[in-house]
Amino acid sequence: MVAGLGQPPFRASQLSRHFFGRYTDQADEMTDLPLASRDPLARALLPRLLTAERELSCDAGTTRKTLWRTFDGALVESVLMRYPDRVTMCVSSQAGCGMACPFCATGQAGLTRNLSTAEIVAQVVAGARLLATGQVPPGGRGGLGGKVSPRDRGDPGGSSPRGDTARVSNVVFMGMGEPLANYASVLAAVRRLTDPVPEGMGISQRSVTVSTVGLVPAIARLAAERLSVTLAVSLHAPDDELRDTLVPVNQRWNVQEVLGAAWDYAAATGRRVSIEYALIRDINDQAWRADALGSLLAGRLAHVNLIPLNPTPGSKWTASRPAAQREFVRRLEAHGVPVTVRDTRGREIDGACGQLAASASAPR
Ligand code: SAH
Repeated sequence: MVAGLGQPPFRASQLSRHFFGRYTDQADEMTDLPLASRDPLARALLPRLLTAERELSCDAGTTRKTLWRTFDGALVESVLMRYPDRVTMCVSSQAGCGMACPFCATGQAGLTRNLSTAEIVAQVVAGARLLATGQVPPGGRGGLGGKVSPRDRGDPGGSSPRGDTARVSNVVFMGMGEPLANYASVLAAVRRLTDPVPEGMGISQRSVTVSTVGLVPAIARLAAERLSVTLAVSLHAPDDELRDTLVPVNQRWNVQEVLGAAWDYAAATGRRVSIEYALIRDINDQAWRADALGSLLAGRLAHVNLIPLNPTPGSKWTASRPAAQREFVRRLEAHGVPVTVRDTRGREIDGACGQLAASASAPR
């Protein structure tokens, strides 16, 4: 394409380095390009895909949420979380979502469209740019209290091997959308995020987590890619009766089939699967369900990430009582299942999936 614009082909690598390595799409920052070709090249190859509609921060500036508007007016969210040992970007893979989980704000709104690979990658580049330009203070624990040790914070991304927090170390596909329902774009985004500069951003595959409601054929396809990305499965219930309502796609692929695909993924990749479980008061947090979950997972290459429910506006559901949460953890541990409780960053900025987009499109 660069050659087609009448430029020497090596300018392609220069542009890629600017975008993936220096996180800029601004022509005036590309001083290694001849003045006259900067604008035409940047405009043709790095069009502005996302425009920040709203930006919110909390935890002393170390949690940053952005609501983006796409070229065609769709709204998507991304969140940057800077910790002492890593920086995690939570990105959206679709505008909206078609999976209709009743506790999830995005699920309520339905699917608008798939995001392109570039729209997914642009969210991470934007976060990397915030960090690189010194706009995010070094991470502390944040202001939410609670006795969560750094190791037990429950962020599925794990820690950065380098402990370098001036760059994005982890990416989780836990923003809006079902990543495996937008398979081709998500997979290409994973490549762009993890290939070394200039082909990509050079993030470790092991630090990328793809979270799914449990689309069994797509999990099998992902396993066959031979990547070392982490798979997260949003289980939320150990029994089909309840999971049919909490994660409606369970009516298509049930608990047994989803976990079967998860264990195949673990076997193919050697990666521990993260089982996501939003604790909802008196809905899925009973001790007997903890035991049922423990039996399903005992001896497997799995880790449970308990997420205190972040209630969506108008929801009749809320987070579990602390005693129920403690008992749930205790019973899983009694089955020998590793379990962490997710740090609940970003509550005061509508941190949960889809909440900011929902509030922006509602009359204010
Ligand atoms: N569609 C994918 C990824 C996006 S959601 C999936 O379902 O896995 C990322 C995680 O946040 C999922 O585990 C989802 O169930 C959970 N989640 C959604 N809304 C939530 C809420 N209000 N409180 C807590 N967790 C929520």
